Amino acid sequence: MVFDLLIRGAQVYAGEAAAYRGDVGVRDGHIAAVGSQLPAEEATEVVAADGLMLCPGFIDLHAHSALQPFVDPRLIPKVAQGFTTELINPDGLAPAPVDRARWTERRAYLRALEGAGPEEWSWSSIPEYLGALAAARPATTLVPSVGHNAVRDFVMGADRRAPTAAELEAMRREVRLGLEAGARALSFGLIYMPGAFAASDELVALAAEAARFGVPLMPHVRNESDGVLDAVREMIEVARRAGAPLHLSHLKVVGRPHLVEPLLAMIDRARSEIDVTFDQYPYGAGSTMLSALLPPWAHEGGPAATLARLRDPNARAAIARDVAQGLAGWENLYRACGPAAIVIAHAAPPRAADVGRSLAAIAETRGCDPVAATMELLTDTALDVTMIDHYASEDTVRAIFRHPLHLVGSDGIFGDHPHPRLYGTAARVLGRYALRERLIPAEEAVARLTARAADRLGLGDRGRIREGLRADLVLLDPATFIDRATYDEPARTPDGVVGVWVAGRSVWRAGTPSGARPGGVWREPRRAERPVL
Ligand SMILES: [Zn+2]
Repeated sequence: MVFDLLIRGAQVYAGEAAAYRGDVGVRDGHIAAVGSQLPAEEATEVVAADGLMLCPGFIDLHAHSALQPFVDPRLIPKVAQGFTTELINPDGLAPAPVDRARWTERRAYLRALEGAGPEEWSWSSIPEYLGALAAARPATTLVPSVGHNAVRDFVMGADRRAPTAAELEAMRREVRLGLEAGARALSFGLIYMPGAFAASDELVALAAEAARFGVPLMPHVRNESDGVLDAVREMIEVARRAGAPLHLSHLKVVGRPHLVEPLLAMIDRARSEIDVTFDQYPYGAGSTMLSALLPPWAHEGGPAATLARLRDPNARAAIARDVAQGLAGWENLYRACGPAAIVIAHAAPPRAADVGRSLAAIAETRGCDPVAATMELLTDTALDVTMIDHYASEDTVRAIFRHPLHLVGSDGIFGDHPHPRLYGTAARVLGRYALRERLIPAEEAVARLTARAADRLGLGDRGRIREGLRADLVLLDPATFIDRATYDEPARTPDGVVGVWVAGRSVWRAGTPSGARPGGVWREPRRAERPVL
């Protein structure tokens, strides 16, 4: 056997098994042999890996990379930490399907989280979008989800009302078309627009399509703060009623640590009725669009209508009142975190100078109330602002991390001053929490980053080191592998990543991207496993 690449003498963490010392030979993008003393003579490249850890490529279960490849397809923050596969379109937010008459509105809404993408969006349907994305040739493999918010906006626009029977049927059809095109999850973002306007019954109807394809529901639940128990209970009920698996996105409790224990207990109880997992990014701060601080009614009608309200004195007063007093059932992130704990991560001109400053500090400089300062920021930038909200202690993060159903999603958002999770997630999970602090065994951390994540998405060709699978590989130095990204200096790649390969091709070596972009887009067509009920 002649290999394109032979990695010799590594500690092999094969996915979900005990580590062993061995060699891995790669040929034509696949793992051709796993063993000991594999012949090196005719291998094109031999990497001596004594003392190093060899893992399957990591899988990011929550990636905001849906438009980034149009800007920089090398996806450097991801490959530099060992991610070789990313699940895109989380939080219900996707660039497709999109109504051709509304794409600039949708872009304005998504921009703070996903970036703007290409100058003009050339697509409408999910398959058209996936075609454009594949043509951008991303370095990692991007696996699509169907985003409920995109589907609802495509069918109903930004209206705040229940769908008609015909609209619900049209939404089911869009979900089905996305799943047939290869999407491996149905995502919801119930604090985002217009998904926040959907009641449980609508979610159940769409979840029934996911159930037919055997793919998980991936919700950003309606409330991650005071109302987190009700919000997670709602999605457990949706999954149970629809018969679909459930994978909760970025499990957390915003500002209410006493709710962590009952939340985990509720998930444990749900295991007897549904197939449930969750992911987490290993930090005690979140990051999302600043406009998520506004009450839901302020988003009705889409971004142009939101901006009109932000310029109207009466609507501004009503927003300020609702933020100060709260609304029943609404996740009031401003109140849960407080203006001193909310820091600007990205702001479009003319407010770029506010990046890195808290809402409290900005308000003080401008001599106004922090809620008024928030509304000014949104108006000045046409909503193009991202925040980092500090909501939990490290202890709380670790309590969730230790749970056996935990998997990993970076939730990485690209930008000038991103949340450190964009660069640090995998290295923090495996390097800091497992190898250094031993919160969980290294094999367990690798399983969560690889085999279990692949199984969750039904990606049968990756996630393990085994003959015949795709040669997505990460070579690490366990003595030095650690995240270096911080809130102050977020754009720092981890230490200790020796090499990363996607489909057998090097994408990262000794601190440098190779520039290769072998990843592609997951577009394996699929048919429903079960008929319509
Ligand atoms: Zn989210």
